Amino acid sequence: MGNFYTDVIQQDSRFQSARRVADLDLLEPTTRRLVEQIVDNAQKMGIALMVYETYRSQARQQELFKNGATRLVTVGVHHYGLACDIVRSIGGEPSWKGDFLFLGELAHASGLIWGGDWGNPDIKRSFVDAVHVQRCTVARQPALFAGSWYPDDTYNTYADDPQLRFAAATASKPTGSKSAARVPRPRKKS
Ligand SMILES: [Zn+2]
Repeated sequence: MGNFYTDVIQQDSRFQSARRVADLDLLEPTTRRLVEQIVDNAQKMGIALMVYETYRSQARQQELFKNGATRLVTVGVHHYGLACDIVRSIGGEPSWKGDFLFLGELAHASGLIWGGDWGNPDIKRSFVDAVHVQRCTVARQPALFAGSWYPDDTYNTYADDPQLRFAAATASKPTGSKSAARVPRPRKKS
C-alpha cells in the first residue's frame, strides 16, 4: 500500500533535485497542517516565521555535507515529507538569529518533535537543530528509512513512547522564560 512518500514525493519532479525546497505541498498532510498551525500561533505571539525547507533530496544532503552545513551524509526525515525547518522572517529574509525556545514550545504543543531537544528536553544532545521539527520520533527513524513504517493520520509522536510522553508533559509547563508564558495551551485531542 502506498503512502505520501511513495505516492506524492517519489513521483514529484523535484525528487532528485539538489535545490532547496520550501513548498508545503511536499509535506505529508498532517505534518503540513501542524507546521501551518505553528506559524499561525507564532504570528499571534508577534513572531514572524517562514518555512525554509520542507522536502530534501539525497543529492542536496550530499551538497550540504560537502559544504560542511550538516554532519549527516545520508538524508533524514526531510526526505519523507515529515520534517520542516522553520526560521524567523526578518523583512522577508530568513533569519536564524535569536533563540528558538518558543519554537520548541509550539512544537511540543502541536505534537511535533523539536530538533532542539529531539523529543526529550532532559537529555543533552551533542547535535541540536533548533529550527527543525518532525512528525516522527528518533526511535522510529530506522523503520521510516527502511520503508517498513510511515505514520498514518492518527500517529502521535508523544504517545509513541512513554519517555517522550513524559518529556512532552514537562515541556508544556511554564519554565519561567518569557516565551513560555505566551505559549498557547496544547489542545487535547483523543
Ligand atoms: Zn531540518
